[in-house]
Amino acid sequence: MATKLPPVDIAIIGFGWTGGILAKELASTGLKIVAFERGKPRTTDPDFLEPGKDDEIRFANRTDLMIDTTQETLTFRNTGDQTALPMRRLGSFLPGTGVGGAGVHWNGVTWRFMEWDHEAYSRTVSKYGKGIIPADMQLQDWGISYAELEPYYDMFEKTAAISGKAGNLNGTKIDGGNVFEGARKSEYPNPPLVWSQAMTMFDKATRSLGYHPFPSPAANASRAYTNPDGVKFNQCHYCGFCERFGCEADAKASPHFTVIPIAMKNPNFELRTRSQVLKINMDSDGKKATGVTYLDPLGNEMEQPADIVIVSAFALNNVHLLLYSKIGKAYDPKTGEGVVGRNYAYQGGGGATAFFGEDVITNPFMGAGALSMCMDDFNGDSYDFAKAGYIGGGGISAGSSGGRPIGYHPTPPGTPKWGSDWKKAVVAAYNHTVGVGSQGSVMSYRQNYLDLDPTYTDSFGRPMMRMTFDFQDNEWKQMAAARDISAAIAKEMGAKVIATSLPAKPYSVVPYQSTHNTGGTVMGADPKTSVVNKYLQVWDVPNVFVTGASVFPQNAGKNPTGPVGALAYWMADALKNKYLKSPGALIPT
Ligand SMILES: Cc1cc2nc3c(=O)[nH]c(=O)nc-3n(C[C@H](O)[C@H](O)[C@H](O)COP(=O)(O)OP(=O)(O)OC[C@H]3O[C@@H](n4cnc5c(N)ncnc54)[C@H](O)[C@@H]3O)c2cc1C
Ligand code: SF4
Repeated sequence: MATKLPPVDIAIIGFGWTGGILAKELASTGLKIVAFERGKPRTTDPDFLEPGKDDEIRFANRTDLMIDTTQETLTFRNTGDQTALPMRRLGSFLPGTGVGGAGVHWNGVTWRFMEWDHEAYSRTVSKYGKGIIPADMQLQDWGISYAELEPYYDMFEKTAAISGKAGNLNGTKIDGGNVFEGARKSEYPNPPLVWSQAMTMFDKATRSLGYHPFPSPAANASRAYTNPDGVKFNQCHYCGFCERFGCEADAKASPHFTVIPIAMKNPNFELRTRSQVLKINMDSDGKKATGVTYLDPLGNEMEQPADIVIVSAFALNNVHLLLYSKIGKAYDPKTGEGVVGRNYAYQGGGGATAFFGEDVITNPFMGAGALSMCMDDFNGDSYDFAKAGYIGGGGISAGSSGGRPIGYHPTPPGTPKWGSDWKKAVVAAYNHTVGVGSQGSVMSYRQNYLDLDPTYTDSFGRPMMRMTFDFQDNEWKQMAAARDISAAIAKEMGAKVIATSLPAKPYSVVPYQSTHNTGGTVMGADPKTSVVNKYLQVWDVPNVFVTGASVFPQNAGKNPTGPVGALAYWMADALKNKYLKSPGALIPT
């Protein structure tokens, strides 16, 4: 029997970027807010000080900052007729745990999604007609346009010290920035990072092929900077131990030194770490949340009553919490009815590794998580879907995120997989190689979804979440095209040998690919096809709000945290200025 605590106004589940932004924005209202984080507290000093911070085995191989799969994991299968099995080792994706969540060990590539991404269905139909959409594809609009979200993108970019170059300022296209982006009202707060050799070569080659390269927007600060909340960033020193690592310099924007300390200055805000929320409690008619049940650090079951519950536990955990708490109708792939778990999507790949002669020196040991040159010529709807034969696209880029001793050892095709010849090939290739690759959109399909596993439970006794996912024909075509374009760029760069790659077929959860899991609690204008309305409020339970990439109706050819951060600011605005003034459904059904 859980111990019942005195009520609070707002309970926040999970304390990464989204929970941190919501806490910062809402704490100033004076309401009593408690945030629950299942992992440990974290600060740059002492957690990420040199030299221990660069321990590649601890952080990259043994995934010290990420979830413990002996406690919680999910089961996986490719298709609905298979039996799913628990993912006992982290592989394809690396969800975070602890204060700051995955925002501590991310790379920091920080996009605005393209205008098409926010209105994928209506823009596709108006250009090509409904007939272009495959029967099993569930293409949907977000219920909010890029233009509506633009001021909130700007807020997140300023909070996170983004370094980049605008390509579309108030409608004026600017060479050297991304000319395919939606109109921005202001420049990035910081100039781009210093280009690496790989970026310079990519820029030259893609320009000569007629494309439009630009430096990827980076949450690695290119100079010392103070954000609008007064948080100070130091300049990135390109240490190369960035993705999967904390930042020793407070140069990589991370919630633990930006939004979270601001929230914690408010006496009405409390953070409870090592506190695992088990479920969201509901009243007897299932129309209102009454709070959360959680395990405190000693393993005691506690009940925290709250007027508002904010679910900000990362895309996959958001869906699990809603399914387990029976909030919203679970999706049934047989009937197509129900919404929670519907439209799960992932990220596509495909690329080429370019091997050069000894005269080309690439210095891969220097780098930063988001140090790359990209182009969107085949992303969003920058090109013709009808001619290409698929919907969606991907950014294509080359960069220098850090050639670390254990993880980075590209070798040309035909090299043995081990032994002295392999070692010789690693030495020969290390300083003369560039990877060119794509991050592809993945559309949502009737047969790709999340539900509760009928067999396996986690260490807390809850059914694990089951993922049913595979890439579909549309994505295979897009990835093959991206691979071929990447190979053509590698050739133009002057590569002597080119090795091309695609993800495993069928999709495998074993090798790392991307932690860009999306969907399952999607936003939209129709309660029959979405879990939350455009303010990220659950249609069926108006005092529950969900934030994170679980609200994306399909995935874009870009990293998700720019829109995730923008949507968190957008939702905080709606809570403060709409819901708190008049609690209830913000959009009538
Ligand atoms: C290696 C890696 C590289 C990445 N690089 C990029 C990049 O370059 N660009 C980009 O845009 N994105 C990147 N991402 C993705 C990015 O990290 C996420 O989009 C972002 O961190 C999501 O923020 P969030 O607040 O939704 O979730 P998280 O940051 O995951 O935070 C959720 C928090 O909730 C906690 N939690 C979960 N369940 C519970 C529970 N039941 N009770 C209590 N607490 C709970 C977790 O412990 C976690 O701390 C990367 C991710 C990884 C892993
Ligand atoms: S590369 Fe830059 S931002 Fe990344 S961890 Fe090193 S200093 Fe920090």
